[in-house]
Amino acid sequence: MNIHEYQAKQLLATYGVATPQGRAAMSVDEAVKGAAELGGPIWVVKSQIHAGGRGAGRFSNDPSGAGGVRVVKSIDDVRDNAAKMLGSTLVTKQTGEAGKEVQRLYIEEGCDIARELYLGMLLDRASSRLVVMVSTEGGMDIEEVAEHTPEKILKVTIDPAVGMMPFHARQLAFSLGLEGKQVNAAVKFMLAMYKAFTELDASIVEINPLVVTGSGDIVALDAKMNFDDNALYRHAEIAQLRDLAEE
Ligand code: ADP
Ligand code: MG
Repeated sequence: MNIHEYQAKQLLATYGVATPQGRAAMSVDEAVKGAAELGGPIWVVKSQIHAGGRGAGRFSNDPSGAGGVRVVKSIDDVRDNAAKMLGSTLVTKQTGEAGKEVQRLYIEEGCDIARELYLGMLLDRASSRLVVMVSTEGGMDIEEVAEHTPEKILKVTIDPAVGMMPFHARQLAFSLGLEGKQVNAAVKFMLAMYKAFTELDASIVEINPLVVTGSGDIVALDAKMNFDDNALYRHAEIAQLRDLAEE
């Protein structure tokens, strides 16, 4: 079962994973109210659909217009863009030609991005071990990175009997070229994400991009989570999201 970006961020945040402030919205009014609460001066209006590639995607009613993730600088622009996106169909590399109708938005505070990295955790069925993957090529389609420049993806396999240890996270942080306080921030981030992954019986958690901000913080700018349907009975709070997820 797949959930929306904002739902994944809310779940991850309860485990201590750093995420920007944001507000979910099902209407233009909610988008404006959320934007006012966040305060600005920069907001990002993000389409919530069950597919990636939203930023580079295009709306079927405005194929030469802006994509499904828009950075804006006023509440009027939040309103205008929310009105254009809600109810429209977003076509991305992952939706197929039919696209997906945008029924909800996430209004997020604008982030000062210094670097975009990639961090993924997934269950390797064959070995039933968790694999952590990182890459300096964040914000890009990771399948393409894997195909064309596989040397830019580093993988660490976690023994379930031991779990993810700080040294695993430090090794991954150094391989991303993080330094100073960024290293500890990344270690804390990865261990919190690992805890969320295992306790929630996720099958994949993908943060693309994982961002280093101008002030050296580490935050999840995007989040994708999938769950093993057979374990959902253990997680009422996630199973509840299913209706929304399969709208
Ligand atoms: P998708 O992967 O579906 O295109 P993302 O959430 O990764 O959607 O957003 C696409 C891009 O938009 C990101 O790589 C980032 O550059 C930018 N972006 C997303 N959220 C924010 C934000 N809160 N502040 C600034 N830029 C953002
Ligand atoms: Mg993304």
